[in-house]
Amino acid sequence: MTDSSSKAVVKLNADRQKSLLRHHPWVFSKAIQSVTGDPKNGEPVTIVDDKENFLAYGLYSPRSQIRVRALSFDENTKISEELIHDRIVQANQLRARVFARGNDGVRLVSSEGDLLPGLIADKYNEYIVISISSCGMEYYKDVIVSTLHELYPECSIYERSDTKSRTKEGLEEHKGVILGKEPEDTIYVKEEGQVYIPVDIKNGHKTGAYLDQRLSRIKVGSLSKNASVLNCFSYTGGFGLWALKGGASKIENVDVSEHALNAAKTGVAFNHLDPGRCKFLKKDVFAYLREQVEKGTKYDLVVLDPPKFAESAANLKKACRGYQDINRLGLMLVKKGGHLLTFSCSGLVDPALFQKIVADAALDAKVDGRVVGTLRQDEDHVVSLPCPETFYLKGLDIAVM
Ligand code: SAH
Repeated sequence: MTDSSSKAVVKLNADRQKSLLRHHPWVFSKAIQSVTGDPKNGEPVTIVDDKENFLAYGLYSPRSQIRVRALSFDENTKISEELIHDRIVQANQLRARVFARGNDGVRLVSSEGDLLPGLIADKYNEYIVISISSCGMEYYKDVIVSTLHELYPECSIYERSDTKSRTKEGLEEHKGVILGKEPEDTIYVKEEGQVYIPVDIKNGHKTGAYLDQRLSRIKVGSLSKNASVLNCFSYTGGFGLWALKGGASKIENVDVSEHALNAAKTGVAFNHLDPGRCKFLKKDVFAYLREQVEKGTKYDLVVLDPPKFAESAANLKKACRGYQDINRLGLMLVKKGGHLLTFSCSGLVDPALFQKIVADAALDAKVDGRVVGTLRQDEDHVVSLPCPETFYLKGLDIAVM
């Protein structure tokens, strides 16, 4: 591959330049007046305003609604292999504090948050897992892999580019070993120097685990002394392991995925925690919450960490109803003096909207809930200042009075 000099030009409509001037990286197809120079999948382009003034350099995605993702807003900094290399090195430097806390599972590159839109790289022990979801990052895949190898020569590199978003880019799904050895079915990754989280790199969700919830798992540990805990949407049981470590008297992990629950069980043994205090329930959370409300069951701590309900603006209303429903039921299950930790990972549901949904849920549940803490994705899931969508995971710690 030769480094292109961004000769192809994308000209924007006069009324669609504002977000780029604020360094938001996404250029939607509707904003474009013309494309000249015939750029191919993922190639660099120069973005100009309607008067041909320079705005940014970006990477071209001919089939996507997000037609160009901008990487540089400085006319002197063209997109090149060197730039991609340096951005990965820089991103890795930003993670020093998370490694220093005793984490062997760390997000090394967080897409727009590290000015590399469409690239995720997570390190789990001696494996690095990459996930590419834009044509631009696909175009620079070789330099991405060689830079990660240069930074971590001892690590194998595995690809999990099997996300739905690749279809929107016209890219085929791909997964497999890129470099080194094939990962074991489940590996155990140290979190905060205290708990080992089960990770299935080959067949788990995303790149294998939800590293973004690390801070909130510590919180669960601190709230769990002698507590009865209900962990909804448990996946491989990260919150449950931290609850046990924190001294929970009993913990129920609820998830529809048998595969995830089986991994969760092995996690309890691996951490030498007491299996007698855990239940693993393969059930639909909505139905289980209703059942427990009808029975009058109460818990000291309820965790609600559902999958992304709002996939697009079109289903936002329905998603809000879903969040309200589980939060109403969840609040009804918390003892007085107990806590609900509730989350949304939908980028479209901002923190203010999420708080309103939970407030409505508390009204419906006739519960006096007080916000005693706000929760968020951990710092290796870097947020881009001009791109608020990258602050996707938010949560509330609600004390029930
Ligand atoms: N809390 C987890 C991550 C949760 S991801 C962690 O910290 O690692 C969301 C999980 O919800 C997935 O494991 C998925 O299998 C599960 N899920 C999705 N819909 C569900 C439903 N209706 N009932 C139960 N589990 C569901």
